[in-house]
Amino acid sequence: MDTDGHGAHGRESGLRDFVGRFRGWMAANEAELAPLLPAHADYDLRVETAKRLRKMLFDAEWGRVGWPEAAGGLGGTILHRAAMHDELFRAGWGGPTIFEHLEIVAPTLVRYADPDFVRAVLPRFLDGSQPWAQGFSEPEAGSDLAGLRTRAEFDGTDWIVNGAKIWTSWAKYARWCLALVRTGTTEQRHRGLTMIAIDLRSPGVTPRPIRQANGTDELGEVAFEDVRVPPDRIIGEVGGGWKAAMYLLAHERGTLSWVRHCGFRENLTAAAKAMNDSSDRQVGEAALHLLGVRATAINLLAREALDVELGPDSAFNKLLTTRTEQTVYNVLRDIDSARVAFPLDSETDPVLQQEYLFSRIVTVYGGSQQMQLMTIARHVLGLRDA
Ligand SMILES: Cc1cc2nc3c(=O)[nH]c(=O)nc-3n(C[C@H](O)[C@H](O)[C@H](O)COP(=O)(O)OP(=O)(O)OC[C@H]3O[C@@H](n4cnc5c(N)ncnc54)[C@H](O)[C@@H]3O)c2cc1C
Repeated sequence: MDTDGHGAHGRESGLRDFVGRFRGWMAANEAELAPLLPAHADYDLRVETAKRLRKMLFDAEWGRVGWPEAAGGLGGTILHRAAMHDELFRAGWGGPTIFEHLEIVAPTLVRYADPDFVRAVLPRFLDGSQPWAQGFSEPEAGSDLAGLRTRAEFDGTDWIVNGAKIWTSWAKYARWCLALVRTGTTEQRHRGLTMIAIDLRSPGVTPRPIRQANGTDELGEVAFEDVRVPPDRIIGEVGGGWKAAMYLLAHERGTLSWVRHCGFRENLTAAAKAMNDSSDRQVGEAALHLLGVRATAINLLAREALDVELGPDSAFNKLLTTRTEQTVYNVLRDIDSARVAFPLDSETDPVLQQEYLFSRIVTVYGGSQQMQLMTIARHVLGLRDA
């Protein structure tokens, strides 16, 4: 693949050129690419297809763009990744599925993990062969994350992990889990937490999928019993897990919205074709919401590209994205109801129906809506509890 004299794939100034070259590559490889773009209703097949697409992008080097060379990438910024995702969506892509975690987990690995460890694992994440999960929530510690109880104790050689995580997205498909564990005392709350990378093929790890209302088992529980983890898999400082976790959550609540909004946009555009006079106002409102998310997402992407740390105001973006997702899928339900109908019939689009049902729970992932409002009140507006 060409380079343009600003590092492997150019910085923002070369973005237009980069998009042109990516479009050219997509056109030249259409026959191989086309079967890898649509989302399959069978979730296992959807994930398998997403992995094959990652492999194809990686082999052609596009999948390494936007990641630092020291970590196994080819340089460039998140803007390159965002532009590439945008193009894929416009070509009919159903979305990254388990590789949303590339926008959530991977930046945290790049920022906080041991450089040799990142160089070993990131390319396998980028080529789709070793996906990652995020293990924060526990049965008694979701909103109260600082109360989590999964423990890691150092035995002089390894960290020994015991406990359980829940609501772990894509646990069933992941090779690694970026987990938040307690290495200090319960009284230390968030100061006693450490982030650690756990190989899910280690002895003592038991993942159990959870079947969701939309028929997928995208979420899971993961139990850890005396799981040995070598010390170079501590991510950041021992006792410094909270800082790394907040960094990760700022991406989940913030920059992730770019890739998500591209998917909403394509679905809304398709549904608008079935629009009539009485639905144009509803579609217009959803389009306005989408533009709002797009604007705030671009702002966050630009900050990330300039290495300006995203902060608690990402919570605002999460609220906006959530509201937009629910508005868009409400529109789909109202104006194109046959495709989202219950029960499934010949006119139902099973993927769209899954997405509609998923849109009902988006007020919860990445921290519930109430917790986002609390974060804004406390850490953006500086309000204190009475
Ligand atoms: C689709 C999806 C994907 C997810 N993926 C992951 C993942 O990959 N990894 C992971 O670690 N977790 C994941 N989660 C879990 C998610 O982060 C938690 O569900 C979330 O933080 C809420 O925690 P909880 O379920 O324990 O609910 P609780 O914390 O029990 O909250 C229940 C309700 O009480 C409210 N509430 C709680 N405390 C307060 C308070 N102090 N003030 C006001 N209201 C409060 C909440 O807002 C919520 O409405 C996912 C969840 C979903 C739905």
